[in-house]
This record gives sequence, structure tokens and C-alpha cells, in this order.
Amino acid sequence: MFNKRIRIKDLLASDKVNYEATVMGWVRTFRNNQFIALNDGSTNNNIQIVATLGEFDEALLKRLTTGACVKATGEVIPSLGKGQKVELKATTIEILGDSDAETFPMQPKKHSLEFLRENAHMRFRTNTFGSVFRVRHALAFAIHKFFNDKGFLYLHTPIITASDAEGAGEMFKVTALPLDGTAPKNDDGTINFKEDFFGRSTNLTVSGQLEGELAATAFSDIYTFGPTFRAENSNTTRHLAEFWMIEPEVAFNDLEDNANLAEEFIKYVIKHAMDNNKEDLEFLAQRLEDEEKQKPQTERSEFGLLEKLNFVVDNDFERLTYTEAIEILRESNHNKKKKFQYPITGWGMDLQSEHERYLVEKHFKKPVILMNYPKEIKAFYMRQNDDGKTVAAMDILAPGIGEIVGGSQREERMDKLTQRMEEMHIPAEELWWYLDTRKFGTCPHAGFGLGFERLVQFVTGMGNIRDVIPFPRYPKSAEF
Ligand code: ATP
Ligand code: MN
Repeated sequence: MFNKRIRIKDLLASDKVNYEATVMGWVRTFRNNQFIALNDGSTNNNIQIVATLGEFDEALLKRLTTGACVKATGEVIPSLGKGQKVELKATTIEILGDSDAETFPMQPKKHSLEFLRENAHMRFRTNTFGSVFRVRHALAFAIHKFFNDKGFLYLHTPIITASDAEGAGEMFKVTALPLDGTAPKNDDGTINFKEDFFGRSTNLTVSGQLEGELAATAFSDIYTFGPTFRAENSNTTRHLAEFWMIEPEVAFNDLEDNANLAEEFIKYVIKHAMDNNKEDLEFLAQRLEDEEKQKPQTERSEFGLLEKLNFVVDNDFERLTYTEAIEILRESNHNKKKKFQYPITGWGMDLQSEHERYLVEKHFKKPVILMNYPKEIKAFYMRQNDDGKTVAAMDILAPGIGEIVGGSQREERMDKLTQRMEEMHIPAEELWWYLDTRKFGTCPHAGFGLGFERLVQFVTGMGNIRDVIPFPRYPKSAEF
């Protein structure tokens, strides 16, 4: 069997010596014509392979270049070098794939994140991205585990949708019609989508929520975890055009239950990563600390990554209403000294990311759950509160990221819902299937959407969302 190998992580974890083992991986460095540092992606730690001088062909040794793929068999022996307990004294070394040292982009030196983004096809082979994507995996696994253990059903909502009424963001069109000007047209010159593949105009989904609600009114507890798309021209460190979203939707839940679920969920998945990816998080913490040192003293964060994560897991999130938040912001010195780009004009204004970050980073210094927003700045499906002004919405704001969760109790009362849709010019005919849930056995329910990449950003401490998804999609970029 070709693949009879031991993972480098497992090999390094054990004290066992004096046995034969085979490892396979990619050369990180080759020193003194003798020591190979080999990595297989199971950990950032390399196994040191000793190619004893004189025992191997010069021609073979020449091919041991950074990036080459190697299979090595030998005896596991105690290591004299520091940093590792064992090493492999090679008896055979086979080059599975050569790597041209001159042109291999991942040289054994520090590369900028920009450079690595341009070489995203190779950046998995660096320590930083090794750690980021192992943590991303752990978080994805923890998400399924959390909901599965709670008895939630994992629902696959469609990626191509016809509804464009959700208002969550700009949509990408999906069409099979020719784009060379020969597409069938209506009398008024617009494209005739009746002739298109689905017989109507379709888009990539911006959210699985509406379909999620359909399932929640049968299974009671569901969640989605899938890709969503937004054609918004946001060139920020927190926006992607293609990102993954987790959207639980729960029958018989109100806004408070919803906030409790979100808080428990975030703590659970962070704890899972801390318990299972200690080495990777320690590496990323060190990386962040080094990065922080480049910044002026005043801009450095007080907390290290691990301290921050521990703090989030161990402490209650701060909960307050939108109205209270506006008061805090209005009264803040920051506002009085006119340091906000968007000044606090008063109740009813939408919060900008600078305001959200002020609340979490300067004022409360912890994650914040903001509740009960003005209905004018929120979606049509959010449940109207008795005050006639606000809806039962909640956003969770995280330090360094801003909004990480957006959720609400949903409007389950048919008359209130259709009235709000009319006010917001949302065509009821298009959402007949959504309205049917309110017609046949409607029930109180609530849910939220959490942007997976923002969570990964938060846990890994990576500053740019483009560095926590393997192949980021953003304006003017869809390489790889
Ligand atoms: P923002 O104000 O940050 O643009 P939003 O109000 O558009 O967020 P929602 O529509 O409530 O966000 O989406 C739910 C969650 O999805 C957000 O809380 C965030 O975590 C994530 N999210 C939204 N837009 C993006 C994006 N373009 N890229 C990555 N994640 C996103
Ligand atoms: Mn947005």
C-alpha cells in the first residue's frame, strides 16, 4: 500500500523511539546537505529527517529543494536538536515531486500577506495559512457538532433563488441566456427571462433564512451552513462577495432565546478551537503579537489573541438596546470631540462600523448584543415591538470585527407582516410560499445569521477577511 505513512503530527506527539516509520510531505528547508525539515500539513511543526552524510546520492540530495514532495523511511530516534523529541534517520528517500528552487513562490522567508494572497494556490504551505485553515476546519466541525448535539436539523437551502425581495444585499444574476446581445427581448427591450433556463430571472442567494423559516415551522430547530453571495462593492477587510453563513432558525423562540443561543454557540465553537487547536492558536497569537509591535503604541490592542478568546468564553456578553447604545454614543467624548466620521445625529440613524467598534472596543471592552432597533433600518420580516417604533432585532458586535451576527424574532402575525411588506414595497405575490407559513399554523420563531469568515477572523486574529477563506472572491478578483 502506497499510503502507509504516519502523520507528522502523530509522530511528533509520541515519545516512542527505535521503530521504523514512513513520512511523506513537502520540504520546508534542507540544511547542511543533511537535515530536511518536512511538513505534511497536519501541524506547523516539521519532522527533521537526517540524511546521513555519504549515504545518499549527490543527485538525489540536489533535488531536496524547498517545496519538493518527499517520501522518507527510516528509524525514529531521539532528537539531539532542540524543539523536537524525535527525528527520523532516513534509510530511503524518494522524491515524489520535484520543485524548482528558482521559481517556487514560497521561499523559506517571511512573505507579506498581499504576496501570499496573490499566490493563494501555494499559501497553504505556509505556517500562517496552515494554522488558519486548520482552525477554520475545527470551527466548521464544531458548528455541526454544536447544533447536532442540540437536536437541530441541518438544512440545505438553495443557492440559486428567484426571490430578490430579501433586501439583504446586492445580488449576482444567474442566467443561461447568451450575453452577446442575442438574448430574447420583451416588447419594451428588456430581457425576456421567461425564455431563460428557469423561466424567470434568478440570482445567487444572499441568505437561506426565508427557506430556513419554512423548515423551522416543521422541524422546530434547523440550521443552515452554506455559501452566500453579495454583489456589493465593499472593499473592506470584513466583506467578501462569496462567504459562508450559519443560519439557525428556531420555532418557539423569542428574541431573548435567540440571543442566548447565539452567545452559547459562539462560546462553544471558540472553546472547541481552543481545546483542539492549541498549537495553531499559540502560533497565530505570536504572529499577531509580532504584527502589533509594528504599530504605534496607541493603536496596539491591550489583549493578546488567547487572552481575548479566553475572555470571550468566560464572560457574559453585554446586552443593551439600540436606544441605550445611541445615548452612550451621543454622550461619548469621541462624539463630542467630533472624532466619528459619521456624527451621532440621533435616534433612528443606522450604526456605522466605527460606532459599533467604539461600543465594543472602547466602551464595554467585550462583545455586545444590541437589541430592538428602529424598524426603518431593519428588514421586513422582523417582529414589530409594541412601541410601534422598534423591531425585535439583535446584532452581536465583536471586538476588532464589528457585526458578527445579525438576527431577529420573526414577525409571525400575518396582518402585521403583510402591512410591513406593503409599506416597504415588497411584492406579496412573489413570497406567497413564505406567507403560507403564517397562514397555516404560524408560530413564534427566531433566528440569526453568523458570517463564518468573520468568526474565523475573530478566532485567528487575522486582520483581513480575504486571508481566512481559501480563495477569496471580492471586487475585481476571482483568481484560482
Ligand atoms: P454588514 O453591515 O457588516 O455589511 P449586514 O448587515 O449586511 O453586515 P447581514 O445581512 O445581517 O449582514 O448578514 C448576516 C451576517 O453575515 C453578518 O452579521 C456578517 O457576519 C456576515 N456578512 C454580511 N455580509 C458579509 C460579507 N459581505 N462578507 C462576509 N460576511 C458578511
Ligand atoms: Mn452588508
